[in-house]
Amino acid sequence: MSNHMVQLNDVSKRFGDFVAVDNVNINIKRGEFLTLLGPSGCGKTTTLRMIAGFEQPNEGEIIINGQHVEGVPPYERDVNTVFQSYALFPHMNVADNVAFGLKMKKVPKNEIEQRVHDALKMVQLQDYANRKPDQLSGGQKQRIAIARAIVNNPKVLLLDEPLGALDLKLRKQMQLELKHLQQQLGITFIYVTHDQEEALTMSDRIAVMNKGVIEQIGTPDEIYERPASRFVADFIGETNLFEGVILETTDHSSYVEISGCKIPVPKQEDCRVQDRVYLAVRPERIRISVQPGNHEAELKGKFVERVYVGSVTKTIISINDQSVVISEYDEMVDMSPGQDVYISWQPEKAVVMKG
Ligand code: ATP
Repeated sequence: MSNHMVQLNDVSKRFGDFVAVDNVNINIKRGEFLTLLGPSGCGKTTTLRMIAGFEQPNEGEIIINGQHVEGVPPYERDVNTVFQSYALFPHMNVADNVAFGLKMKKVPKNEIEQRVHDALKMVQLQDYANRKPDQLSGGQKQRIAIARAIVNNPKVLLLDEPLGALDLKLRKQMQLELKHLQQQLGITFIYVTHDQEEALTMSDRIAVMNKGVIEQIGTPDEIYERPASRFVADFIGETNLFEGVILETTDHSSYVEISGCKIPVPKQEDCRVQDRVYLAVRPERIRISVQPGNHEAELKGKFVERVYVGSVTKTIISINDQSVVISEYDEMVDMSPGQDVYISWQPEKAVVMKG
């Protein structure tokens, strides 16, 4: 048995001339929580709909639990989908909503009762069985929608922005609940969101999509610490991008010229002298000082302002009209607008990307 639950091999989808999904390859492991992350219109939902069977790829193949699913209708696939809109039947109570699919499949009555009870317990709504959807909060409705999906014991649960309609606090709570539920059930989750924080919190791996293409697949840590492209670096969290050219590569390091300074970076095997590159450095990796510190990777700039955002302070400086953001957590030295300041970081904390 393959340890992959869902495989997408060279999958493309066009709407007329428009390529919505462009040659996508993903192998999703059994029991994995994989998130498709990207901006609006990048092809996440279309990819999910092809796995569900609501759309057919123009090219490529989809394999679910070892079975090629070309021509297999949605209801015969081992998947269930949870939509942002809940899609509950308003005239039915909670228990009947959850039982609906099982009744259609003519599952015996006593088995339905037991499975509905178990599914409601999973989402902690066993006391709400007799309520109608309009007597529930948004978070409760979404939990019912999830119960209605898991009651079918799917091998794969597809979730399309399921928390998108909830307020921030409830959303954060539901993120953890969903993650725990997934671990408890041990089933494969494929989750769609455009919210990078949500993706980083919940996923085992994230596939970052842009314009129908997968830019990078990796663990939250890999995606955050080692973004493979400018798009990923920019889309995930906050980052500072410095433009420069490769000056030289020695046995241990490469050197990039940025604003007239020679800055060491991790060794770049596949870059040549004069190659144009971008250096990505996270705000929390940068230190700021009013004196030059003779650090290897150090740039001079001018202090602009500090912005307090709760647990962290964002300090903005400018280097040749480029704004650079630094996160400060500790005691901060007083600085005045226009004052010369020096920023530095450990060379190995910078990520180099080809321009
Ligand atoms: P969002 O986060 O806004 O839902 P998404 O990443 O899920 O975005 P998709 O819904 O997959 O994006 O859409 C990808 C592109 O394909 C969009 O430009 C969209 O307009 C287009 N598209 C999707 N469905 C159709 C369709 N049935 N006909 C024509 N174009 C479509």
